[in-house]
Amino acid sequence: MYLDAAGGALVVSLGHGDREVLRAMAEQAGQISYAHGTQFTTDSLETYAAEVARLLPFDGARIYPVSGGSEAIETALKLSRAYHLARGDDGRHKVIARWGSYHGNTRGALDASGREPLRRPYAPWLGQALHVPAVYEYRCPNPSHPDRCGAWHAERLDELIRDEDPGTVACFVAEPVGGATLGASVPPDDYWPAVQEVCRSRGVLLVADEVMTGFGRTGTWFGCDHWAVRPDVLVAAKGASSGYWPFGFAACSGEVFEAIAGTGSFVHGFTYSHSAVGAAVALAVLHRLRESNLVEASRTKGERLVKELTAGLQDHPHVGDVRGLGLMAGIELVADRDRRRPYDRTERVTERVVAAAKDRGVLLYSSTGCADGTNGDLVMLGPPFVITDEELDEAVALTRDSLAAVLG
Ligand code: PLP
Repeated sequence: MYLDAAGGALVVSLGHGDREVLRAMAEQAGQISYAHGTQFTTDSLETYAAEVARLLPFDGARIYPVSGGSEAIETALKLSRAYHLARGDDGRHKVIARWGSYHGNTRGALDASGREPLRRPYAPWLGQALHVPAVYEYRCPNPSHPDRCGAWHAERLDELIRDEDPGTVACFVAEPVGGATLGASVPPDDYWPAVQEVCRSRGVLLVADEVMTGFGRTGTWFGCDHWAVRPDVLVAAKGASSGYWPFGFAACSGEVFEAIAGTGSFVHGFTYSHSAVGAAVALAVLHRLRESNLVEASRTKGERLVKELTAGLQDHPHVGDVRGLGLMAGIELVADRDRRRPYDRTERVTERVVAAAKDRGVLLYSSTGCADGTNGDLVMLGPPFVITDEELDEAVALTRDSLAAVLG
């Protein structure tokens, strides 16, 4: 028996064995389990699309349902290109993303991802996507940090768009809060408004990758909501179905949809996109999140989690940083706290801490390479939102014990 303090890979929000979700899944599978998206839509898809549209941070939202985050990102990138094509803006094809990001493991998504250890083996296949610096306050590249970090990042984005020629850039894709690569790295408050402004003024679509942050993980329905960001395209997966079904989607604003509709510029689809059962599961998850106030629970429990982790670990000589938003928290481990010097990768610190935690009955999520693309050790906590205060305290205590066992 394990205490799941990571929700798998920050996927599970409702906890395991939720009866209402299981009932919705079985009922839908009993009616119709599969219909190809080119032939039929289904009531469950239409109902889900209408309900989720009311929560998404743009007007007239439309969704394209797929079976996971990487597929959703690929869909969003193609959708962005299709939007420009539909408007006769054929020159816009470039994708800009950030270093220190993760958008998935398929080729297009990996190319957008700024995560060196995953990119390295496939480097000869990558390189079409362009990257701006990581938004990583603990190791901020802004020379005048902590002053005007958001503005500095927005200037880097604007500079790159200008250098590339704005007429060639299709979209900028980024996670509202840095996830798997930078371990819950929260941007400064002036970041998102400034970046949104750059995208709008340059005619570049803003794609919010909410695969990890969406559906309450950061304590609001979407990460964008913290800064009132209105993207053009939004990508979700993970928490959309709480892991009960392989499900995700790319959503776009009504304006993007209207531009593309009927032009034939967006030819796309997968055998397992538009799953009727997936939509029924996602609808049941959405209802459970809403009816049990679980997004609010993620916010309040998340505050408690980060506070307790900070209190319990701030004096540890190898804990460089504790950060997070909602129930998405990261602990960065360093060899030398004063210099923020990472451990050498050969020491496999993250792996050893995660293994020590598993031995003690608590599951943590791991990430490596954050500091310089090779070195850098992160453990993440992202429990289901139904976690009790006692379980939360136990997770913090066992995390502390695991760090002590490995690092002294
Ligand atoms: N985008 C983000 C922000 C993610 O965290 C992930 C997965 O961790 C993905 C995309 C890829 O999702 P999937 O693993 O479902 O393909």
